[in-house]
Amino acid sequence: MSESETHEAEALPADVIPAATNPGRRLMIAGNWKMNAGGTDGCDLALSIARVAANNEETEVVVAPPFTAIAAVANELYNKKSDVAVAAQNLFFEESGAFTGEVSAPMLRIAGATWAIIGHSERRQLFGESDEAVLKKVVAANAGGLKCIVCVGETLDQREAGQTLEVIERQIGAFAAELAKSGGDGVVAYEPVWAIGTGKVASPEDAQEIHAAIRELLSRVDRDFANQTRILYGGSVKANNAEGLLAQKDIDGALVGGASLEADGFGKIIEIAAKLARQGKSE
Ligand code: PEP
Repeated sequence: MSESETHEAEALPADVIPAATNPGRRLMIAGNWKMNAGGTDGCDLALSIARVAANNEETEVVVAPPFTAIAAVANELYNKKSDVAVAAQNLFFEESGAFTGEVSAPMLRIAGATWAIIGHSERRQLFGESDEAVLKKVVAANAGGLKCIVCVGETLDQREAGQTLEVIERQIGAFAAELAKSGGDGVVAYEPVWAIGTGKVASPEDAQEIHAAIRELLSRVDRDFANQTRILYGGSVKANNAEGLLAQKDIDGALVGGASLEADGFGKIIEIAAKLARQGKSE
């Protein structure tokens, strides 16, 4: 990269194409069901969500059931000709072999998943998932034909120590170049750990500031990649706080945990995103 190109990339985010005029950044609402709705209840939930999604096509909708329900949910959605896509909540980076309890990207594709959530803070904190493992999983997802939603975010201690940007820079730096290989298909989710499942939500202004910083970090790899990549906010998003967050320039959707298990509340978030898209977001 020449010096002038490097300089140009550093000019972001001030001249980033606003989401409303960038068709590649269709607002995405993704539901992370965690270890819930792993049987027929998952199919019922997915079908209720599909009914709302069908009337709000401006919003891209993704659901992430537990492994046990991926095939059944994907099958139901396919039979109903729904555009709602299915994500895995995790994957293992090897393709096959003696890895008891693990599931690979090609297996998830066979089951019907087209997306994978990678590096969720619960994986990082409870299962010791490192930045290196996150990178390997992004590589495996790319190779296996899964699109990635890669999660980053600081803990409360890190935030209080003023380390938010440092932590995010380290986490993004680990996988950004690999994510760029899937062009604009990759998604980053900013999920401050202190906001996950706590009912504490980042203010729209604070979240926008971090999202702009994330886009600037992505632009260090490639400017088009930064412009095209959706950056979701996650952390206690609910129907009553979604609009302020989704209206922000660099917030291209939401990764929703608890509220995604209830079709009505999750449906309202889908509707809010579609309404903002119809309004051109910023109008
Ligand atoms: C999550 O687990 O990704 C999440 C955002 O959870 P919640 O919405 O419950 O905070």
